[in-house]
Amino acid sequence: MPDLHAAVRAFVEQTVRPQVEAWDRADDLPHAVLEELVALGVTGALVPREHGGGGEVEELDKVGYRGVESAAYRFHAHEAPGAEVLGDAPGEGARQMLDSLDVGRVNVACRALGIVDRCLACAVEESTTREVGDGLLGDHTHAQLRVGELFARRAAVEALVERAAAAVDAGSDAARELSTAAKVVASDTAVWAVDVAARLAASRSYAAGDELARLRRDAPQTQIGEGANDALLLALARPLLRG
Ligand SMILES: Cc1cc2nc3c(=O)[nH]c(=O)nc-3n(C[C@H](O)[C@H](O)[C@H](O)COP(=O)(O)OP(=O)(O)OC[C@H]3O[C@@H](n4cnc5c(N)ncnc54)[C@H](O)[C@@H]3O)c2cc1C
Repeated sequence: MPDLHAAVRAFVEQTVRPQVEAWDRADDLPHAVLEELVALGVTGALVPREHGGGGEVEELDKVGYRGVESAAYRFHAHEAPGAEVLGDAPGEGARQMLDSLDVGRVNVACRALGIVDRCLACAVEESTTREVGDGLLGDHTHAQLRVGELFARRAAVEALVERAAAAVDAGSDAARELSTAAKVVASDTAVWAVDVAARLAASRSYAAGDELARLRRDAPQTQIGEGANDALLLALARPLLRG
């Protein structure tokens, strides 16, 4: 395991970090990079052919979020007699899967926070460079209010995401509720933030190459991934209403 940690760290430092911004702008993850990951042994389907693996794989043609490849796997007559059984022992798998969802929700919340962050940057850029009437956009109260509100909500989301991440790292009892709350609040804020920033940028949020156009396309995925937000809100409410 320490070898795998070191190999993944080296992969991130040498391959991911230098190129990740370019992949993000191009909205594409080169296949050769994925093959490097597979060679490291950190990804790939773990169902051998003799147990029904290697079945149909349908690549999903998504509108965005293409930095990650997504596919639907269909297994026929699949048996899982050994190492493919999640959690190894009966009853352990669900817990392991739910634990990974806690991490996944923090991951989605972080992506949403990044979108809010960029919306604030776009709103500031637009307000300080765009000339409207006899001055800059940012001279107007409505632009100032939007920048102020973006700043305030970004700070609130950042604090909640950090709290959720700390709870997950500590294995705290509150990890599930906090990671769920962080993912819902961060993703709803991301969709809201794109709308606010795009109103300031107007037509400069709608050309295919505009950052805000890309954020508008990607923000809703954070409301869906790791559980649709409404379904997660129902799950948060359930224990409170049980009395
Ligand atoms: C781009 C993309 C990438 C993805 N990547 C991955 C991945 O890497 N790994 C992975 O495992 N999954 C992945 N997913 C799947 C994702 O986790 C699911 O789409 C998500 O959990 C929502 O599930 P669903 O689409 O089945 O919608 P559903 O959960 O079926 O929701 C449909 C509607 O029903 C409502 N609803 C759901 N449950 C209830 C309920 N109990 N009571 C009342 N209403 C309810 C929801 O609010 C929603 O309005 C990805 C999805 C997308 C779009």
